[in-house]
Amino acid sequence: MTTETKEDVWADFLSFMQNRCSRAEYENWIAPIERIGNSDPITLQVPNVFVQEYLLDNYQEALASFFPKDKKGFPLITFLIKEGQKEQPIKTPLMRPKKKPDMEHELRFNASYTFDNFIEGPSNQFIKSAALAVASRPTKSYNPLFIHGGVGLGKTHLLHGIGHFVKQHHKKMQIQCITTEAFINDLVYHLRNKSVDKMKRYYRNLDILLVDDIQFLQNRLNFEEEFCNMFEALINSNKQIVITSDKPPGQLQLSERMIARMEWGLVAHIGTPDLETRVAILQYKAEQTGLKLPNQIAFYIAEHIYSNVRQLEGAINRLGAFCRLMHLEISQEVVDKTLGEMFQAPARSKISVDRILHSVASMFNVRENDLRGSSRAKEVAFPRQIAMYLAKELLGESLMKIASSFGGKTHSTLLHAWKKIAKQLEHDEILRRQIQMTRQNIEA
Ligand code: ADP
Ligand code: MG
Repeated sequence: MTTETKEDVWADFLSFMQNRCSRAEYENWIAPIERIGNSDPITLQVPNVFVQEYLLDNYQEALASFFPKDKKGFPLITFLIKEGQKEQPIKTPLMRPKKKPDMEHELRFNASYTFDNFIEGPSNQFIKSAALAVASRPTKSYNPLFIHGGVGLGKTHLLHGIGHFVKQHHKKMQIQCITTEAFINDLVYHLRNKSVDKMKRYYRNLDILLVDDIQFLQNRLNFEEEFCNMFEALINSNKQIVITSDKPPGQLQLSERMIARMEWGLVAHIGTPDLETRVAILQYKAEQTGLKLPNQIAFYIAEHIYSNVRQLEGAINRLGAFCRLMHLEISQEVVDKTLGEMFQAPARSKISVDRILHSVASMFNVRENDLRGSSRAKEVAFPRQIAMYLAKELLGESLMKIASSFGGKTHSTLLHAWKKIAKQLEHDEILRRQIQMTRQNIEA
């Protein structure tokens, strides 16, 4: 028997691994492993089952040469998964994916998620034109394009819209659209099979990569770096990337490097649609399902469902089904009966024009009253435009109503301010950060 303690063996193994694999690989996969206690056989705590499988799949021989092995030559190690604290002895057969994931996931874009079916309004006009620009001239406009916004506001719709457009207008371009989960699954599979190079080759051959819901990369330390490497490789070889997320890059719990990469191109927000746009969406969806929707009823529904387009769609489907089944004409009573439980509380949220003015005033060091006033001095006029921009983005109310809360400004003054700020945000990183911080403050 050797006189080495288990700590020494573990330390030896680590230094062996340090020489054996790349720094990134070491830090992603090996460094997070912790040796627990002094038991025999050795117990290793891993952050998740992927790390355990990665270690066993790739370094079983190395492990067996450092640690005692069983009769079949398997290293005797007890693994402990950090979350859940479930012990998983090494001899338990490892779960294999049932089916080899196919990187070339069949390209299927939702048939109704086209640009033509996307109703525009002030909350999404800018992002829609950015998406269209990217689809028309990939890599020539914004790269990457980062689309963020809340649930059910049309992020996936726009992503697929780009996909449809590219397939139609740039037939030769290789395009792939994946969810972040699918990407991680592929990566796990290829790491296990030591075929990561194949995967990299596949992705590097693409012209356009559309990635949905990047927020799922958070807390997946092991995959973030791989994703980031691939991301850089694609951008460096002039390939187009479009990413969606429920938060702006700076609010994602990802490495600074990854955040910086995602901020390279254009970061654009998709907001909640204002009242007029919600009505237009309702009318459009009603028309598509053959439902006759009187205008005042559309307004009534739009006033009560304001934060999610998917719910507006659901409302139309439900109302349509109810009226057809019961042979009823649409009326406010019918709407209350069928959609009442979907209605959101009329007191929208704590966000108000006052709150916006308060936050903007403190961010830009001006007085709230000056923001409400009409001074054209630049020190006041610019923050006032920012406040107007934010009011339009954050309050789901009509432009007219918002404008009147700004000391009787007109609807076109407000729209002008919004457009000006939205345009400046395209290239002004400092402004983007200031507005982001103000927003956080308002929404806190
Ligand atoms: P997200 O990915 O942001 O959660 P989706 O793209 O899945 O949202 O959109 C939810 C639903 O709302 C989809 O059926 C989509 O077609 C619809 N939708 C969202 N925004 C619009 C819009 N501006 N015009 C028409 N339909 C929309
Ligand atoms: Mg989505």
